[in-house]
Amino acid sequence: MARYQATLAGIVGVEGRGLHSGRTVAVRLLPAPAGHGRVFRRVDLPEPVPIPARVSSVVDSRRATTLGVDGQRVSTVEHLLAALAAAHIDNVLVEVDGPEVPALDGSAALWLSALDAAGRSVQQARCCPVVVDAPVLVSQGSRRACLLPAPRMSWDVRVNFDHPLLHDRRHRGTLTPAGFRRHLAWARTFVFRSEVDALRAAGLGQGGDLDVVVVLDGDGVLNPGGLRHPDEPLRHKVVDLLGDLALLDAPLEARAEVYLPGHALHVALLHALLARRTRVERG
Ligand SMILES: [Zn+2]
Repeated sequence: MARYQATLAGIVGVEGRGLHSGRTVAVRLLPAPAGHGRVFRRVDLPEPVPIPARVSSVVDSRRATTLGVDGQRVSTVEHLLAALAAAHIDNVLVEVDGPEVPALDGSAALWLSALDAAGRSVQQARCCPVVVDAPVLVSQGSRRACLLPAPRMSWDVRVNFDHPLLHDRRHRGTLTPAGFRRHLAWARTFVFRSEVDALRAAGLGQGGDLDVVVVLDGDGVLNPGGLRHPDEPLRHKVVDLLGDLALLDAPLEARAEVYLPGHALHVALLHALLARRTRVERG
């Protein structure tokens, strides 16, 4: 039986720099009624419109997931959304006073801490999980993703990059609040050293330094403290996947098998799932 929806028990504020914009942004997470969903609001703009964290709001999925409605945008939402989904916070209003959610330490861990500080409040309505009744498959070049019928959200993520930390690696798991906290939440964003100059030239990564992003170089990493776990970059890919899948705005009961994950691939997978569901509902 589906669990009950939940929101925050209180209001919590977080401040930090955006990874790509470099701007300092303040975020407030506020409780919201059942059925509200996860919704962003750009409170720095004169007439803020609700920006629902739904796949229909995605306006850009290069490097990070950006949501937008009527020209009002908020980017790099995926780590916060992963934390919200994993912590079973279904209804929340996220006020941001800038164009990008803060990177914090590059992982979802400090978002979980903020959610802990606010507390969780169970509501009077049940969740409506999204069930996958037949395989949904998408591919982009050599990248592939599919959703398979399964009673709980689980994943099998494989990467194969030209770096020892990401060469032919695989991570499998099943989503639970405790498992996310223990095995995934602390895994930080990473970038290849060879990409840094191009990102900066494109105006991205302006808030990225070695405190918030792991830089992969040669056989290892540039960060003086090293990695938090040998599989940290791979596990961050799982965090990104879970954050993007949270754009269904409902718990997903499926097994996600992904080869070479990426935001654009995840968003395409969600579009394929929703298109299939619409066809099924139309009969
Ligand atoms: Zn990420």
